Parts: sequence; C-alpha cells; structure tokens
Amino acid sequence: MLSIYQEKKLSILIVDDDLRMRESLRELMTMYNMATTLAEDGLQALEYLKREFFDLVLLDIEMPKVNGLQVMREIHTHYPETHIIVLSGNATFENARKVLRMGAEDFLSKPYDPAELLKLLNHLVEQKNNQVQDSESKQQTVVFSGVEKTLMELEEIIRTEDLNLTNKIINSSPAVAFLWRNVSSWPVQFVSRNVIDLLGYSANEFVTNKVIYRNIIHPEDRARVIDEVVADDKTTRFQHKPYRIITKSGVVKWVDDCSSIVRNAQRIITHYQGVIIDVTERELHRQNMLKKQMALEHVAHHDALTGLPNRLLLRDRLQQSIKKAQRIKKHLAVLYIDLDKFKPINDTLGHDAGDEVLIAVAKRLTKSVRAMDTIARIGGDEFIVLMESVTNVQDVKAMAEKLNKSLKEPIHWEMHELFITSSIGISLSPDDADCAEDLMKKADMAMYQSKENGRNTFQFYSA
Ligand code: GH3
Ligand code: MG
Repeated sequence: MLSIYQEKKLSILIVDDDLRMRESLRELMTMYNMATTLAEDGLQALEYLKREFFDLVLLDIEMPKVNGLQVMREIHTHYPETHIIVLSGNATFENARKVLRMGAEDFLSKPYDPAELLKLLNHLVEQKNNQVQDSESKQQTVVFSGVEKTLMELEEIIRTEDLNLTNKIINSSPAVAFLWRNVSSWPVQFVSRNVIDLLGYSANEFVTNKVIYRNIIHPEDRARVIDEVVADDKTTRFQHKPYRIITKSGVVKWVDDCSSIVRNAQRIITHYQGVIIDVTERELHRQNMLKKQMALEHVAHHDALTGLPNRLLLRDRLQQSIKKAQRIKKHLAVLYIDLDKFKPINDTLGHDAGDEVLIAVAKRLTKSVRAMDTIARIGGDEFIVLMESVTNVQDVKAMAEKLNKSLKEPIHWEMHELFITSSIGISLSPDDADCAEDLMKKADMAMYQSKENGRNTFQFYSA
C-alpha cells in the first residue's frame, strides 16, 4: 500500500504567488523526500514546465500574469503525464468541481491540511510505482469515444466527491483514523482532522512529528500497548485492550484502538492503519461496576464485624485445601474454636463489649497462625482455623495450645479487663474425613468434647 518514504520520490513544481505558502509547502515536501521547484506565478511555472518534467504541480489559482486555470489548460494540452493538485483560498464546491473537471487530481482549500495533502501524494507515488498498469489504462482511455470520456470524467468526479464524503464522515465521527509507519516510534503518516477533538493536538502536529503518538500513551500502559502490536505473518487485524492516553491539556482518556496491518509486495509490514475511539465514559463505568461488584463480593464472603472470611468463603477454601492436601500428600487440620462463657460478657457489659472481644479474638488468631492458614468466623463466638500442609500432628497440637494461650490474655475494654478462654476441637484430613462437611462436623464434635472436658482446652476428634 502507501509509502512515500520507501518508494520513488516525486518531482514537484510548487506554483503560488504567496512566498509563505511556497516556503511552507517546500518545507513539508522536503521533509518527505520530494524534489521541489518553486514558481512565483503562472508565467514562471510555464517556463519551468517547458524545461523539465514534473510528476506533480501544486497549483494556486488566483495569481497575477497567468493564472492557475491557464496553467492547467497548458499542462493538460502539453504535459498530460503531469498531475495537478489545486490549492485555493477560494474553496467553493463550484470551484472544486470546475478544476476537477479540468483534470486536476484534487482540490484542497487553504490553509491546507498537511495530512490530507500527504495522503494525496501517497496515492500518486503508488500510481507512479505501478506504471505498467497506468500505461495500460491510458491506452484504453485513448480509444474511448467522446461520450465514454465524459462518463469517465463524471465517474472521476463522483469518486472524488466520494472521497470528500468519506473524509467528511470520518471527520464528523467520534472515531479517529490513523496510519502509522512501522518503525520504532510509529510516526503518524495520516490522521483524520477530528483527532483534535480526542487529543487536543492537531493532525498537523502528528504528521510533522511534533507530537509522537507513542509518547502520549499513559506511561503505565505504554509497554503493554507496544507488546500488543502484532507483527506475525498471519494476522491482518488486531485490537488493543483499552488503554489510557494523555491529551494536550493533561486529561487522561481511555481509548479503544483497532488496527489492520499493511504489507508491501514483499509481505513486509510497512504500516498499521486503524481507528481510535474515546471510550472513557464506558471504561470508567465498567471500572466503577467492577469495584462495586468486588465490594459486594467482599461483603458476601466476609464477616462485617471482624473482616475475617465467613462460612461461605471458608467452605470454598476448605474444599480447595482438601484437594491440595491430597495432591501434595500432606494433612489438613480443622481447628474449631468456640469461646467459653462468652454470653455473660454480653449480658453483663453489653453487646459492645462482646463485639470488642470478638474483634480482639480475630486479631489474636490472625497473629498466631502462619500466612498460608485461613481463619474464619462462622458464627457468634465460633471461629475456624485451617492449617495447611501438616506433616506432623505435634504441629497441630502446638498450634492449638498457642491459640488457647493467646486468647487467655486479658482484653482491655474501656475501664475493664476482660478474660475469656476457648475450647477447640480438631479434625484431620484425610485421617478423619475427606470432605468439607464431615471435617467440619467432626471438628465441631471434638469442640463439644473440649467443653465437656472443662473448657479452656483442645481435643482431637476420636470416633
Ligand atoms: P459456651 O461456653 O457454652 O460456649 O457458652 P457461651 O456463653 O459462649 O454460649 P454460646 O457460645 O452458645 O453463645 C454465643 C453467644 O454469642 C450468643 C450470642 O448472644 C452471642 N453473639 C452472637 N453473635 C454476636 C455478635 O456479633 N456480637 C456479640 N456481642 N455477641 C454475639
Ligand atoms: Mg461459646
């Protein structure tokens, strides 16, 4: 497809009576490796045209001495191989139609859009590099009758108007069209004018590389976006996951970016082209929903008072732990803890004091177990500790003693020192049971045994 970099360059005659316009066009053309000659009016242009061949004339219309329309007529008659792009300050539809009918390749209004101009040049380079095809189509044109020729001209006008319509549609849509060259910094070769609405930078700032697109990707997303660029043989289109860009005014926006891959005749990727669309609202909404969902899930799986996993989450963890224990051929211990005579604390000092005890118990249990173990609150004053990767029953015993001991320490609440003890029942997997329900049931039974044994102790399950 297109590349004014890699293919043959064009020789261009720039004709304009405005010095600044001539200079600006030359600067742009030189940047893209074009050979330029400058003419300050139509007369000088005709002189140059007599002396050498130009692929393209960038032509102003209103000029002193010989105007653009006269130059066009001369080119049409004597240099039919030379293409013409008219750049005019008087950009009415009628004028455009007139110059296009007279054989101009295209019509751009001043001030011109460099991206649009470069796109047209790309098109010409493509044509130039496909001269065999060109000459075939020219031979056909020669034998066309007058009526057919008029029809072809009409088609050409329709095609050009189609192109204008396409540009209009792109520029009025929220999607921004991009064409990147496949070199390390991804210089932008074309970008639709509506880019200014999305990023605050003009198309010109991108095309002239004043702004490098890659640099405005949020630093936290940049490496990921670069990694997502597909460069294998089979892919023709790829879509980035939404990523953040930073606009000219520093606002962070989320974009969807879908690109297709452009290869040359040797199948080498020369460009990526695609559309980028602002999805900030959708993305923020999605993230918000995700946060809410996560918060809801947390509420559903955790105890509100202590923040520990609740019975629901415990069941899930227990099932996973049983499978893991089987896989790694180790034991799993379930320690069922019920506080002793907890109710009287509520009854004598009130519910708040009771709550404080439950929170303190949760903290002490958390401190006492290993990082891999799970603690859950499954009811009023009932807690569970899951001990994973157990190789030795002695370790479980030591843990039970440690828990009993840590809970015995006084708890300070307001002016009071509160004392509590605990009864613990222990079941082991796979020794006592190999399913969650049975393991819990047996640990519970062992806990009742502890109560019966006088409380403030622990008891392994025995049948
Ligand atoms: P035992 O030694 O036999 O276990 O006697 P106990 O007094 O501890 O009796 P039990 O375990 O049956 O009672 C638990 C009490 O915990 C009953 C209930 O009022 C109280 N409770 C349950 N949930 C909460 C809570 O969220 N906060 C407070 N403060 N108390 C609670
Ligand atoms: Mg109790």
